[in-house]
Amino acid sequence: MKFLEYLTISILLCLNLSFCSNINKRSAVGPLWPNKKIPYTFSNIIEFNLNERELIKNALKQLETSLAINGETCLEFIERHNEPDYILFTDNGECSSGIGYFPGKNRISLADDCIKTGTVIHEVMHRLGFDHEHSRQDRDNNIHVLINNTSNKENFEMTLNNYEIDVPYDFHSVIHYNSDALQNANKPTLISKVPILLSDSNEIYHKREGMTPLDIYKIQRLYKCKALEIPDFITGISQDDERVEREKKRFKTEANFNSISNEMIEKYLNQTFSLCGGNYFWPLNYPLVESNHRLYKLICMKKKSPGEKCRFSIECNSESVCIRPFFKKVGYCIKIDNEKINNLSQNVNDSMFEYGKKVLNVLGNLKKKIFG
Ligand SMILES: [Zn+2]
Repeated sequence: MKFLEYLTISILLCLNLSFCSNINKRSAVGPLWPNKKIPYTFSNIIEFNLNERELIKNALKQLETSLAINGETCLEFIERHNEPDYILFTDNGECSSGIGYFPGKNRISLADDCIKTGTVIHEVMHRLGFDHEHSRQDRDNNIHVLINNTSNKENFEMTLNNYEIDVPYDFHSVIHYNSDALQNANKPTLISKVPILLSDSNEIYHKREGMTPLDIYKIQRLYKCKALEIPDFITGISQDDERVEREKKRFKTEANFNSISNEMIEKYLNQTFSLCGGNYFWPLNYPLVESNHRLYKLICMKKKSPGEKCRFSIECNSESVCIRPFFKKVGYCIKIDNEKINNLSQNVNDSMFEYGKKVLNVLGNLKKKIFG
């Protein structure tokens, strides 16, 4: 069976470039909260109306739920009665928070345009002890900071480590700035050194809707959430041997066009399948970490159904393949019609582009969507 997928070398290179596979130290600075029940309150009714309070409470709830493991709470946010140490949500005109816990009142400022779930979680993560992701000691392996494009240079400084957790660099972290953060004259303040898988470019733009799996993992590690000690990921994997074999063949076929070594393909597939299982895949822009197996489960993403955007077949579920012209960064998972595809034979003189057009002719309806 022939499959069509145009891999771009630049993305796959991420499999063997040292900065993609390094395990690096994640830093969190600032003291930790001594108690896992963290009281909070609001400064007064004028600063936050009922809707705003509701949104903030829901964001805290989301944080709390995400951190729970097997239904067991890790951190809990409770409304303050008379506890001496607490978070005070206030509004001093900016979105800001100190880093970590201090005895007494711990302010988090949320101006009007900061009252969004992701921003609230961003500031609360600071309060839990984390500085910005792009301030990590290893950030220069992952991003270019274009310091001349901002007047707020201090926001882009590296921080010193007080706590260290082995977690890969996370471009999508809720505490990572976007490329346009604090910029002057429409010039980016930071860009990724490798293309960001889900956004097609080296510029980083995420909607900051909530924590990534790595954000969750970082907090769980930092606060030593109990259940994390149980290596439960192995039981959750559904291995699908037939599917593994098919993916191997497919990747080998593709590898031939791209001079990517079979070993690399094997390594990537073995890791993806043994760690994520047949229904999940490991996003290519996340480094593969061998030291901590629990991490894999957190990073595995659900496979995509026909019609969803993709870059590689590994992302599509068992009934579909990723079809992507070489000049496009994004294709679509397309339902496999085995019989029709088997009838196609690729002439050695056909370019992949010509072959792609043939396949799309057979597949019909998505042709316009992709090539148009
Ligand atoms: Zn921040």
